[in-house]
Formats: sequence, structure tokens, C-alpha cells
Amino acid sequence: MRMTGKVALISGAASGMGAATARLFAAEGAKAVIVADILDQEGKAVVAEIGKAGGHASYVHLDVTDEAQWKAAVEGAVAAHGRLDVLVNNAGISGSAETDLYDTAAWNRLMGINATGVFLGMKYATAAMKQAGGGSIVNLSSISGIVGQGYIHVGYNASKGAVRLITKAGAAQHGKHGIRVNSVHPGLMPPMRTSGRTADPVMRAKTLKGVPMGRAGEVDEVARAILFLASDESSYVTGAELVVDGGWTAV
Ligand code: NAD
Repeated sequence: MRMTGKVALISGAASGMGAATARLFAAEGAKAVIVADILDQEGKAVVAEIGKAGGHASYVHLDVTDEAQWKAAVEGAVAAHGRLDVLVNNAGISGSAETDLYDTAAWNRLMGINATGVFLGMKYATAAMKQAGGGSIVNLSSISGIVGQGYIHVGYNASKGAVRLITKAGAAQHGKHGIRVNSVHPGLMPPMRTSGRTADPVMRAKTLKGVPMGRAGEVDEVARAILFLASDESSYVTGAELVVDGGWTAV
């Protein structure tokens, strides 16, 4: 059991990779998994499913762009469970639904949720983790945080690039407090709820031609990478970027 005794908060955990990570953390013995999202019904369903399987989870409404909600969510976790050991900054929206790749409102939305959301999570989680004597933060970037793409809004690349370097800055600043900060970079995965162009089967088939493993990834394959970075197995790993893309960016 790789998460025994740990208290973990996962943003955007009502669906996709966040939900898969919540299920895996609970199955690996976490003391408490806090499922945080804006989709209350779906988030509570994930909690119920974990409970049925014998795990320990609870739900909190958290819009990652709202600083007061972050403060309340982190302080609530510490009040209920005594500490926060792990934060997974997973909530995000896609830039592939935009037709105007330079639309200003979309830029602000993408930066607000994907980048500022991670900044705010780090701000409150690192404060709580310092008091607890350490912790692990895993930030969901993307291969789009490493290489550019011609068919998604520039704000998606920019926001995921920001996540990559917020991570490295966090590792540099908080290492002395026993807080590790790493990023995970998924490639072609099941489409996000907000996907547009990247959900199109023709576009996906075209993309797959550049993926050496010749298939899309599964949410559990990303959840297992997140588990490694969240758990003590990665005790000397910080500031690292773990690419989970079937070799897409290797060629
Ligand atoms: P998803 O759309 O299934 O899940 C994203 C979750 O984030 C949803 O539950 C959504 O409600 C939540 N969310 C959105 N805005 C929010 C907000 N303001 N506050 C709180 N929660 C909010 O997508 P996913 O595929 O599970 O993506 C998870 C993460 O992985 C994202 O950061 C995404 O950018 C990244 N990623 C996804 C892919 C992919 O192809 N699916 C590839 C690389 C990286």
C-alpha cells in the first residue's frame, strides 16, 4: 500500500485522470482522498464509488480560480485530517475547442484555470505542508507544456508551459521544507470534457501516426505515474517532468 496514512487533495477529480487518481490513491490505502471539483454531482459519485470499494474519500466544491475556495479547501482538509500530505493540481480545460487560436477571452480562461489555478493550489498547500514537515505536489501539465501545436489555442500551450516552470520554481523554493514538486505530461489520452478538435476521430488517427506506441494512453496509466510522484517511492525526485506519452515527444 503506497499511500498508507496519507491525506491527499486532487483538483478536477470528478472525471478523467483526476477521478482515476482518486480511486487509485484510495485503493493504495490513503487515509483521506479529497475529491475537489466544480461538478458536484459527478464528484460526489466518485466519492460514493470509492466508499463502496472500502476507501476513504470526501468531496469539496472547489473552483480553482477562486482564492477563497482554495484557502477553505486546504484549511478544511487540515482541520478534518490533521495535515495535508499530497496535492494533485489536475483541474484543467482544453484549448482545442477554440476556432480563433488568438481569442483573448479564451486566453484569459485558459491561463486562469490551467495556470493561476495551479499557482493558488501551491500557495495554500505549501503553507500547510511546511507546518506538517513536508509533502508532495504533482502538477498536471501536458506534452503541450513541452512542445507547441498548431491546432490548439496558444493559451493551452502557454498555460501548460507555465505549469512546467511553476513546478521547477516550487521544487527550488520548497525543497528545504521537505516539499517535493513534480509535473506529469500526458500525451494523447481520452478526450477532455472541454475537447473540441482533439476529440475528432480523424484528428486523433492523424495524431496517432506520430506516436511510436501506436495507441492512445489510458487514464490509469497517468494515475500510476501520479501515484509514483505522490508516494514516498519518489522520495528524492523533485522538479522532474514525467512524460507519459507513448513516445510522442521522443521522436
Ligand atoms: P477532464 O475534462 O476529464 O477533467 C478535467 C476536470 O477538471 C473536470 O472534472 C472539470 O470539471 C475540472 N475543472 C475544470 N475547470 C475547473 C475549475 N475552474 N475548478 C475546478 N475544477 C475544474 O480532463 P482530463 O483529461 O482528466 O484532464 C486532466 C488534466 O490533464 C488537465 O489538466 C489536462 O489539461 C491534462 N491533460 C489532459 C490530456 C488529455 O488529452 N485528456 C492530455 C494532457 C494533459
